Amino acid sequence: MSDDVSTVSPYLPSDVPEALMPARHKRAREKWDQELRGPLGLEGSTRGVPEAWFLGPKAENVDLLKELIMSAIDSHAEFRRGFHPDDPTHITSAMRASTGFQEGVARLRADVAELLDKLKLSAPFASMRYQGHMLWDQVLPATIGLFAGMLYNQNNVAAEASPVTTRLEIEVGNDLCRMLGYYVPPEGKAPKPGKPLPWGHITSGGTVANVEALWAARNLKFAAVSIRQAIREVPALSEAKGLEVPLWQGGMARLVELDTWTLLNLDIDAVAGLPRALTDLGIPPDMLTRMLGAYSVQNVGLINFYRSFMRDVQETPVFLAPATSHYSWPKAATLLGLGQNAVIIQRVDRDARLDLEHVESTLIDLLRRRVPVLATVAVIGSTEESAVDPLAGLLALRERSRAHGLNFAIHADAAWGGYFRCMLREAGSADEDVGVPTLAMSDYVQRQYAVLGKADSITVDPHKGGYIPYPAGALCYRNAAMRDAISLQAPVVFHSQAEPTVGIYGVEGSKPGSAAAAVWLAHRVIRPDRSGYGHILGQCMWTSKRLFCRLHTLDDTRFRVTMFNATPAERARRPDDELAAERAAIRQFVNADNVGLEARLGADPEAKRLFTSLGSDQVILAFSLNFRTPDGRMNTDLAKANAFNDRVFQYCSLIEPRADVSDLDLVLTSSRFEPRVYGHQFVDAFSRRLGVIPQAELGVDFLISTTMDPWTTETEGGDFLAVIEAALIRAAHRALDDLGHG
Ligand SMILES: *Cc1c(COP(=O)(O)O)cnc(C)c1O
Repeated sequence: MSDDVSTVSPYLPSDVPEALMPARHKRAREKWDQELRGPLGLEGSTRGVPEAWFLGPKAENVDLLKELIMSAIDSHAEFRRGFHPDDPTHITSAMRASTGFQEGVARLRADVAELLDKLKLSAPFASMRYQGHMLWDQVLPATIGLFAGMLYNQNNVAAEASPVTTRLEIEVGNDLCRMLGYYVPPEGKAPKPGKPLPWGHITSGGTVANVEALWAARNLKFAAVSIRQAIREVPALSEAKGLEVPLWQGGMARLVELDTWTLLNLDIDAVAGLPRALTDLGIPPDMLTRMLGAYSVQNVGLINFYRSFMRDVQETPVFLAPATSHYSWPKAATLLGLGQNAVIIQRVDRDARLDLEHVESTLIDLLRRRVPVLATVAVIGSTEESAVDPLAGLLALRERSRAHGLNFAIHADAAWGGYFRCMLREAGSADEDVGVPTLAMSDYVQRQYAVLGKADSITVDPHKGGYIPYPAGALCYRNAAMRDAISLQAPVVFHSQAEPTVGIYGVEGSKPGSAAAAVWLAHRVIRPDRSGYGHILGQCMWTSKRLFCRLHTLDDTRFRVTMFNATPAERARRPDDELAAERAAIRQFVNADNVGLEARLGADPEAKRLFTSLGSDQVILAFSLNFRTPDGRMNTDLAKANAFNDRVFQYCSLIEPRADVSDLDLVLTSSRFEPRVYGHQFVDAFSRRLGVIPQAELGVDFLISTTMDPWTTETEGGDFLAVIEAALIRAAHRALDDLGHG
């Protein structure tokens, strides 16, 4: 590497002692501080309202978008012309007049027109009728940031290929860490003593972030075992024979003398800090990297690692994830050579939240059999039900488990749910305080978000709750040192003195600087607190609850809707007359407009309690339809109910290609509660609520509505949820006609 400071990244964790920082890094950092620190930076609170942040379902803000995109193009053209302005051109006016050039342009125009035409058969994500997957309109600053960044086509794999966007990625990483509850000291403030600094970076999506999180957890799990072996065998490391680590039962012990099982279950921060502890003994980082190389699982591979260093622990590693977990987890297990069987699926309760009793019994069994546990995944907003797992309880359970010598990482998969924490953050706060929301996040959910910062790593997808275009996922680590576990450049070693770039951490190689620019500009305009994203998502939460009210009380002679999330009276198994009274109360919410409902909830605490208790933990509603037979009774045949829901889904999706999307009245998505995954108790209970007879191996199909549109309840034409309700009824009737029911 050259000694030119422009190729050196200035981004060093702020706890790197000056003395360890090579001079060229110091110079690079100074240069960057002077040139870039001032105008960049993500602090402060949001100004304005969500209506100014989107293009809008009818492209209402199209002039604004055109103006800003044009300014991005003009500015970029200026950049090109301004770089060595005297350099000659090849594309002269004579060249542009040539036939070949003209043909090329004509072809380009025609093909663009064709593509634009084809694209009109796309899923209409920005419509109010789009209630399917977890995406909607994108925020304008993200579109503009992505577009502007794309013109520059920077590659964040290496800082020298992306001097500006690498910096943006670091700032976004810090901002996301704060949003999720990790403490990042404000600019110029010292870190809290004894508290590790977090670190976050952008990935293409949540899948890649989850894979990386498990990769880091796996490597850290075995790091102490490899270091023990290295200290025992490498003479130059003999000084480290006195190195001590903390034990769960209290006190310290010499690492070289510990048994494998104990080493596999050490404190994660202690393990992540081992390379640093070794360099503190005076072992130069480069040498350490070389010496540990022959012992790291990263190098020798899991199979040889077990053969050579794990003779007294033979069970292969596993991790725990709830039945609701995303399919990226089995993928991660496969990629890491653990095998899909390494994912031990945990039951969920009737609200689709991780069942801690099952986790506890699983851990007891694993401890007894001495099976290394890499991690337990808590889903913070499941993909199909937006259920928030009991993270606080899981943390407490790990505390108890540690007392028995079993430790593991806790990963929060907040790919979908991470941005909802903005609803609890005071505007403009750089700190980790969580206050009272203005609306409708249940006490239970708030308690889980309050402890999110205690998870060891967190996945969050700006491309979901952040309304930012792909590719934009992210992974945040509670302790920045954890990322070193996955860097191939210097396995397990503290090499931050020479950290070249954000690009050496993570699964990807080349990655778009434009993604960082998109997230950065979005976060700059729309702060991740109550004034910005919390404002948007709070409105979505309100809308989702209003939609719940409508669907739960939908009154049709031919079919009935069963909401996956039960109401208070249903939960308490109250008699029919009380259920009917509750229904009537809920229908009153439907009939009021927003102003009326707000006034009502403000004046009537009982009504407010009922309203806020309805629906899911966030903004996804799962529900199944069942139909009435000609004698007026509910159908009891599960297969027939499934066929009905499936047919409704065909009318409410692009699952079958269409020549024209304009006859699509409503877009939902669908899934199935499989007994194999969710367990029989869960599936049978839902079947019974639906009115069908449970069948041993048969899953229950359901429909999913995701509310990411903050304004559906308030349009020029009134509450648009009425249109959505009518569209669902129409689709259901068409499906029943097709199937010959009634
Ligand atoms: C969407 C999602 C993922 C995967 O994210 P991608 O960006 O689609 O790769 C992982 N976990 C959860 C909970 C998700 O909702």
